[in-house]
Amino acid sequence: MQERIYKSLPNVLQNGLVTFFDYIQYKKRHSGVYGQFLAEYKNAKSLNIEELIFLQKECLIEFLNYAKHSSTYYKNLLNDFPFNQDVFQAYKTIPIQSKEDIRENLGRIFTISKKKAILSKTGGTTGKSMEVRFRPDDMQKRFAILDAWRESFGYKLGDKVAWFSGKSLLTDKDVKANKYWKYDFLYKIRYYSTFHIHDNSIRHYIDDLNNFKPLFAIGFPSSMYEIAKWGLKNNFPLKYKMETLFPTAETIIDEERRVLETFFGGRVVNQYASSEGAPFILECKKGKLHLEMLSGFFEVLDEQGLPAQSGELVFTSFSTHGTPLIRYAIKDRIVLSDEICDCGNHNPVVKSIEGRVNDFIYSKERGKINLGNISNCIKYVKGVIKFQIIQNQEDAVLVLVVKSSEYSLNDEKMFRHELVQRLGEKVDIKFQYVSDIPRESSGKYRIVKNNLKLA
Ligand SMILES: [Zn+2]
Repeated sequence: MQERIYKSLPNVLQNGLVTFFDYIQYKKRHSGVYGQFLAEYKNAKSLNIEELIFLQKECLIEFLNYAKHSSTYYKNLLNDFPFNQDVFQAYKTIPIQSKEDIRENLGRIFTISKKKAILSKTGGTTGKSMEVRFRPDDMQKRFAILDAWRESFGYKLGDKVAWFSGKSLLTDKDVKANKYWKYDFLYKIRYYSTFHIHDNSIRHYIDDLNNFKPLFAIGFPSSMYEIAKWGLKNNFPLKYKMETLFPTAETIIDEERRVLETFFGGRVVNQYASSEGAPFILECKKGKLHLEMLSGFFEVLDEQGLPAQSGELVFTSFSTHGTPLIRYAIKDRIVLSDEICDCGNHNPVVKSIEGRVNDFIYSKERGKINLGNISNCIKYVKGVIKFQIIQNQEDAVLVLVVKSSEYSLNDEKMFRHELVQRLGEKVDIKFQYVSDIPRESSGKYRIVKNNLKLA
């Protein structure tokens, strides 16, 4: 969509374009292998773990074979791969691919032309962003999995949904008129801007939600959280109950989940995926996260590269034929669980998704303190609207805080105390009060920004 032309159009035509654009996208995603794959995937829901492992092995062999024969880069890498031996064993000898490996060799990794591909840009919050190519059938499979999952929580395409994504769709006129959304009237998707959520605008978002009454919300949890927190604090309620909220793209922390469920009245269900095409980790009805083995091969490795319960996620994703990702270290941390879930899904259970590898603060005394732990610091601190902790050197952190009138010196004391509990006495902690904390260019909001070269 040409942004300049779009922005010069009247609102009704902008909505028309948004709808048309969605229509084209949905057609691409829901044709081809979509229907057949969706049926197969739903059938596989009842498979036991041995059957899942068997199918996963088949998918892995197919995928490695494809990459070897279709990509110059992998032809080289997989040249001596012993396809006739135990694939799971041999797989462990494939060198782990970093983001840099992939980015630098993209031209030789691609298996299809740009023209035939569906393009996807990865976020560039740290390092540079890259553009990967999907074959249409890859996308169709990905959407089949997502649709089946969302459907299990009641959402069908065409049900009203509030979408909070990183798309910039508003004009100055919209903002002046306090209209912070665009509407796809075919699929009943209202796209709320995540770039304009602030104290003076949030009431208009809530008013519109009360008018539109979507039962589902999808998108950045940090954006929904800002709205929820403001609504609760200012006694400006949602006048109905949502059914399900599907956060995407960001790691969701317990406090966010609690506030979201309190304000929106619906259940928050978590998912893990990524714009470069990571295999899926999906939350089930019993609240457990499952590694979806038919979407990829997962490993969790410690710092020495050995299998671990808690560590870095390394995967091969079966829906990345256009830009094969094989033993790819995405730089996210997860913790596995031994638990067996009785929801009927026999895929292995993940205890938690810890977020990006560099979502931590480092202290010489205490080591790495992860995002979840850091975000708990404000549990007993009143009046924090937003905060972000920036670490540029080992022995110091800068805490940016957007505060409300409730916030007092005691709250800073409490915040500092909680940080010292976690980081130890030797890290210098400076507070700086600001009017806003900007989002990343991707629209994502980060609580921790670690600029140390440790990650
Ligand atoms: Zn389950």
